[in-house]
Amino acid sequence: MNGRHAPGILFIVAAPSGAGKSTLVNALLEREPGIALSISHTTRSPRPGDADGVQYHFVDRAQFAAMAAADDFLEHANVFGNGYGTSRGAVEPALASGRDVLLEIDWQGAAQVRAKIPCLSIFILPPSRAELERRLRARGTDSAATIERRLAASRDEIAHAHEFDCIVVNDRFEDAVAQLQAIVVAARAGAPPPTGRHAALIAQLLAS
Ligand code: 5GP
Repeated sequence: MNGRHAPGILFIVAAPSGAGKSTLVNALLEREPGIALSISHTTRSPRPGDADGVQYHFVDRAQFAAMAAADDFLEHANVFGNGYGTSRGAVEPALASGRDVLLEIDWQGAAQVRAKIPCLSIFILPPSRAELERRLRARGTDSAATIERRLAASRDEIAHAHEFDCIVVNDRFEDAVAQLQAIVVAARAGAPPPTGRHAALIAQLLAS
């Protein structure tokens, strides 16, 4: 850091898979320029349409383990049997130069980052369990076994929603993007986050 800039803001966005996180984040980045999206490393195989260095840096398990051993990760976690991690290089230089950075990571990674550096964490909830299931199946890129595993895992992810600074419910897409944008605008202005806690919905999602 050269001391000429105030550090950027680090945003974290997490959600159970199928909540629509990536689509929402992409819309947010179009509307709020100047946020660098961190590209994670993962050992999972590319899905159709995935390109190395775009959605993820795809690495093998040995490369991932070597990066972890070298302390190259700001955070890393095992998600659905694969390694996922945020490299320090994807985050620290950008923040130091005054750029805001956004991480799309799971609750485990969010907890690690929170313990290390200041950040604003946002959790995206589906409006109901039925809608989460429908969206996961509609994606059409994962096997039935993978979808079942992700549905089971979504409950674990949602159980950590209360640890996040802000909660956004992705019911109507436009409303959810507007809420995300309002959170970013408030953070950039140094104002408190403008969202509710949605405790009743969280309880319902965990019970259903
Ligand atoms: P997918 O394989 O569907 O792209 O992502 C699976 C899960 O891994 C999602 O919950 C996603 O947020 C999480 N994930 C993606 N990148 C990272 C990362 O760098 N660190 C952590 N902890 N989780 C990640």
